Parts: sequence; structure tokens; C-alpha cells
Amino acid sequence: MQYRKMGSLDWEVSALGFGAMRLPSRRFSLMGADFEESQRIIRYGIDRGINYIDTAWPYHLGESEKILGEILKDGYREKVKLVTKLPMFLVRRTEDFERFLNQQMERLQTDFLDIYLFHAMNAGAFEKMKRLGLIDKMEEAQRQGRIGHIGFSFHDTQPVFREIIDYYDWDMTQIQYNYMDTAIQATTDGLEYAHSKGIAVVVMEPVKGGTLANPPVKAVEAMNSSSVQRTPVDWALQFIWNKPEVATVLSGMSNMQQVVENCDSAERSGINSLSGEENEVIDRLAGIYRQKILVPCTACEYCMPCPHGVNIPQNFAILNALSLEQSGIRRFQTRRSYRKLVGNPDQVNKNNPNGNGAICTECGICVEKCPQEINIPVELEKVHAILRKREPISQHFD
Ligand code: SF4
Ligand code: SF4
Repeated sequence: MQYRKMGSLDWEVSALGFGAMRLPSRRFSLMGADFEESQRIIRYGIDRGINYIDTAWPYHLGESEKILGEILKDGYREKVKLVTKLPMFLVRRTEDFERFLNQQMERLQTDFLDIYLFHAMNAGAFEKMKRLGLIDKMEEAQRQGRIGHIGFSFHDTQPVFREIIDYYDWDMTQIQYNYMDTAIQATTDGLEYAHSKGIAVVVMEPVKGGTLANPPVKAVEAMNSSSVQRTPVDWALQFIWNKPEVATVLSGMSNMQQVVENCDSAERSGINSLSGEENEVIDRLAGIYRQKILVPCTACEYCMPCPHGVNIPQNFAILNALSLEQSGIRRFQTRRSYRKLVGNPDQVNKNNPNGNGAICTECGICVEKCPQEINIPVELEKVHAILRKREPISQHFD
């Protein structure tokens, strides 16, 4: 196993972390996890050197934490950093902090969490965190020796990410990132920004929920033409491990084959270890995926700032993500991420643009700045029609 710096913390983390959100399922059960098989693959991963386990209150409807409590017996708890998250979507009052933390520690059969995160932070959860004084609660738990470090996982737009990063002296953050998601969610800018502040960045969704594990034919041809042979998943993982800003990559592994392959990949990983040819292959893969992309925005941000607060690259990134997604759940999540952008001009943050396509006044200021020659107001109108009015993509694109 390779080990990497965990931001400013005084321990090193395995390049591969175990995400306990997609454990092997029991037969005939949608969410129930198979204890024996989960134990077998998690302990195998730890024996291979994984020292970071990530879970959360809702994973497997609460079974993930309970199962981990059992699996980490027999000396395994001491071999790993154990991380779980305060379910912000269920927190209503300040007192809920204690209730959830106590129950989670009970489920996990531990009196110490190495990191406790605010789960799925977005603009709304961030406001709630501040309103309920939950940072104070985190620090109190830290002083009591119940949690080691404080962080947050993130699902919103890049301006919100920067705002949250700037709000507190975080130990770590967990973001969605892969070679297709460099311009949505926290974005590459967010990754680099968090790292520049000494915050450990943990990456989730490295294969974009499986999208990058099932490449289109042209992408397979591009991989096969390389002198370096890798699986689609290995290409996606190595892209992330190549980045010095990343601490560890979480993979939600569901069977032994995935654990074996991902551990093998992690052992071959390294910062800035990809050759020029390998980086070119990844660029080509990204390019092939982008053929499915509806608006050829490269997120260069030359068009920004929009004087009316439209986040132009974010709007296009979300539309393109919708076009690429194959799973219904992910298409739903993508549509939801669009709803998080603001459609009311009075609510736009002009210093940290968060406006959706509906706010565009068609002033045209941005158009000539775009090196891709995108007719930005026209495309923004399509974005809004597809994502907000739910008009079919085929009505707007060939
Ligand atoms: S055309 Fe629309 S997106 Fe472009 S600068 Fe004007 S308001 Fe902003
Ligand atoms: S200038 Fe064009 S390519 Fe660059 S971010 Fe704006 S729309 Fe995208």
C-alpha cells in the first residue's frame, strides 16, 4: 500500500480508503448489508494496508455503522482511522448533535472517532450549522476526547465550497472528484484551494458512480491503444492519485474482486507519477466522454464574472453531467444540483456567482470572451429549459 500526507495532520493515510456505503448486499434486500461478506472484504482490505474507513448514519439504512462496529473487533479498530458523519439533513436542534454522536459511537462500538464530519454540506446545511452552533459542539466533543478531527463532506457548487472552506480551520474535507467532474461540485479550483490551506482532501466518487468503469467503445479503443494497459477503473483512480492535493481516494467497494483490484491499483499509485503518454490517454478519454457533452465548455472562466451573477461554467457542467449520466438516481441528483443554483436575481451573490440560466439578461458581454465561441445566452436558455422545465434534450440538441 502507498501512504500519503493527510493535509496538516500528523499521520499518513493509505492511498485507498474503504467507503462503507456500498457493502455487499444480502440476497433479496435492497439496502441490507451481508455481514459475513462485508467482514471478509473489509478485513482483507485492512490486511492489505487500508487504514481509513468511511461511513455515515444513513448508509445501508444505519446497518453500515452497526456492521463496522462488529467487523472492527479483534484488533482491527486499532489499525484504522474511523470516520463517520453527523446527518445534517436530520439535525433540527443543537441537542441533536449529542444524540447522533452518542448513537453513532454506540453503533460503531468505539469511544473515539478519528474524524467526525458534517455530512453533505451545502448552502442550506451550512446555514443550519452556523445557526445551531454546531461547530461549538464539535469542538466540545474534541475537547472531551471523543473525536479527533473535524471536517465536512460536500455537495454543492464551487462558490459555496470556498465559502465553507474560509469559514473555519477545517482538518479535512471530502469532495466528489474524478476526471469528468473537474468543473462541477467543488471543482479542481476547490481541490487546490482546500489543499493550499493545509486541509486534507478526501475524494469520493472517483469513477463517477460507475460511469467511468463502463466506457463507450471509443474510450475502450483509446485505452487499448496505449502502451500502458490499465482497466477503466485504474485509469480513473490513477488520475486522482497523480494529484498532490489529494490525501486519499474512497472507493465504495462491494465485492472481493473490487477490493483486490483497487488495492493493486493503489500499490502502483504515486504523486505526479503518470507519464506524458498516460496523461494524454486520460485527456483523450475525457475528450471522448465530452463528445457526449452538449456544450463544449472547458470551464476556463474567461467569460466570468457575469455582471448579473450567472455562474456560466457551472450551468454548462451540470447540463453535460446530465447528458453523460446513465443511472436514474444520478440523473435525479444532477437535476437537484441545478436547483441549488439561484434563479432569483435578488438572491444572487455577485462576488461568488451562484445564478442559474434563468438570470441571464442576454446582455451579451460574455460572448466574445469565450475561446470556444459558445453562444452563452442561447445555451443558457437551453440549460434552463432542460433542467428546470424538464424539456427533453433532443428538443434542443441533435
Ligand atoms: S449574456 Fe447572460 S451570462 Fe452573459 S454576461 Fe450577460 S447576463 Fe451574464
Ligand atoms: S469562456 Fe466559454 S469555455 Fe470558458 S468557461 Fe466561459 S463558457 Fe466555458
